[in-house]
Amino acid sequence: MASMTRRLGGIDAGGTTFKCGIGDASGNLLERHRVAVTSPEETLTACTEFFRVATGGRGIDSLGIASFGPLEVDPASPDYGTILQTPKQGWTGTSLTAFFGHALGVHPVVDTDVNGALLAEMTKGAARGARSAAYITIGTGIGAGIHVNGGFAGQPVHPEFGHIPLRRHPDDQAFAGICPFHGDCLEGLASVTAMRARWGEPKDLPADHAGWAIIADYLAQACQVLTLTLRLEKIILGGGLMLAPRLLGRVRRTFDTQMAGYLGTHGQPGEALIDTPGLGDDAGLIGALLLAGKPAGRVPGP
Ligand code: ZN
Repeated sequence: MASMTRRLGGIDAGGTTFKCGIGDASGNLLERHRVAVTSPEETLTACTEFFRVATGGRGIDSLGIASFGPLEVDPASPDYGTILQTPKQGWTGTSLTAFFGHALGVHPVVDTDVNGALLAEMTKGAARGARSAAYITIGTGIGAGIHVNGGFAGQPVHPEFGHIPLRRHPDDQAFAGICPFHGDCLEGLASVTAMRARWGEPKDLPADHAGWAIIADYLAQACQVLTLTLRLEKIILGGGLMLAPRLLGRVRRTFDTQMAGYLGTHGQPGEALIDTPGLGDDAGLIGALLLAGKPAGRVPGP
């Protein structure tokens, strides 16, 4: 007999770790498990095993996946849920929908990792109650999920916000940037990889290191671009780098300086607009669970 409660599975598919969880449609996690990323076959099989064992062999009723990209996110495409051209060894062309469809007998709902995190933050995190918002993740790369006018921006293809051009900080003229395509785009200048290339490990930098003002300037510019194009109610800055003491405050103040009062009383100050994730490291996995509770197809958001 079918149980009253649907067992939802979620996977936060990151570049180095897949976080798997079982929970309910409200995004409450009941069990979780981390799988180190190796080959697609080994990684995805380990995820499948977790869902089998954790449900006592009964399996899950639906699965949501918030995945690293580039990723086919158009439900109308025959390649929906497939990892596209990626430098990650062996992963190009891996179909998450086909694998888990076969292994678990479900039709996974798949979206980008940043859309998953954004869905979670808008549902029960720092962007709760906002009608429009973005989640920017700052890690070895930079990406963003954007929710406007009742849905995620990104059909048929997801945004590549990490590669927007920026105005150079006056004290950062000598650095070429690390993006293999553009050099000094947002990711090329402000990702953890870009910080390492100039100054070493971000976590080893003292709080008064000159690099923080430069990074804050670039992240504030990114928030300015989002604000002036989309007038979002909330911008969440996620990723390990944002744990750096005082970085959030610096970004907020720099944003106010850059905006120069342009929007007047119709604008929000950085302190109200820009925040770090309310759900911390769990945003992606909770987002995946919330995806699992939605019908496959275009995800309308919270
Ligand atoms: Zn780039």
